[in-house]
Amino acid sequence: MDAYVVIGNPIAHSKSPEIHAQFAAQTGQQLSYERLLAPLQGFRASVQVFMRKGGKGANVTLPFKLEAHALADRLSERARLAGAVNTLKFEQGRIVGDNTDGAGLVQDICINAGLALQGKRILLLGAGGASRGALLPLLQQQPAQLLLANRTAAKAEELAQQFTEYGPVASCDYAALDGSFDLIVNATSASLGAELPPLPAACFNSGTLAYDMMYGRQPTVFMQFAQQQGALARDGLGMLVEQAAEAFALWRGVRPETSEVFATLRRQLSE
Ligand code: NDP
Repeated sequence: MDAYVVIGNPIAHSKSPEIHAQFAAQTGQQLSYERLLAPLQGFRASVQVFMRKGGKGANVTLPFKLEAHALADRLSERARLAGAVNTLKFEQGRIVGDNTDGAGLVQDICINAGLALQGKRILLLGAGGASRGALLPLLQQQPAQLLLANRTAAKAEELAQQFTEYGPVASCDYAALDGSFDLIVNATSASLGAELPPLPAACFNSGTLAYDMMYGRQPTVFMQFAQQQGALARDGLGMLVEQAAEAFALWRGVRPETSEVFATLRRQLSE
């Protein structure tokens, strides 16, 4: 049976095994998918041992996405630009690295939430790994503008400059934000500490979709703030499921249907 793992540290919390088990059942694929805890200094060795045992592929989560990028023999364009890898595929002893996080985000926004992004104004908050991975897939939707804002403005400026050839991207600091946006994506880790990026209320209007990459039992403070301004709010659970579906498609050549898996996870989160 083909074997896959999700590698991270910590890893016990990962929902990926449940997600992939449901995808496998739904598409009639025979495979195993386990959690693999790699020592903090032992990511490379863990991958190599798993490969030697005949493993077919792996998902990579914190804190190893940069190491996975360095380890890959070949990278997809989106992984190269993201500077991070969340999906590995093993092909005849060679490691192919991909990044499905941004595609998962776009799928959740454009298809599941029904917001077409062509010609729209997008505000992306944060300049870390999640933001970097989202930039190319968002720009490929041909927005009118993509503005990148970050607490440390120099990081946003540097990141935006790397993507100018892919679309209309610019950066600014929070204090300089002006007008409202069709989509605001919170790709900061502020919600983890129940903090709110210093965002003016005027960034939202009644048609704004406020998307927090974080997910949990309760709406995040960012989602609550957006709703108080009359905007629609959505958390990152759909992104999690869609990035997994992209990885599954890369490995198995069939993209699973995601709505039931999403509904199951949502139910489990609220229990
Ligand atoms: P990083 O640590 O790489 O980046 C964190 C970013 O958040 C930085 O830009 C940092 O700004 C900013 N930040 C942190 N605290 C605050 C604050 N209080 N106010 C304003 N900005 C702040 O994290 P990642 O990019 O890896 O992850 C970001 C989020 O995305 C996490 O919550 C993660 O869980 C989520 N995520 C969700 C996924 C999903 O499938 N749903 C997939 C991947 C990530 P500065 O540069 O100034 O320090």
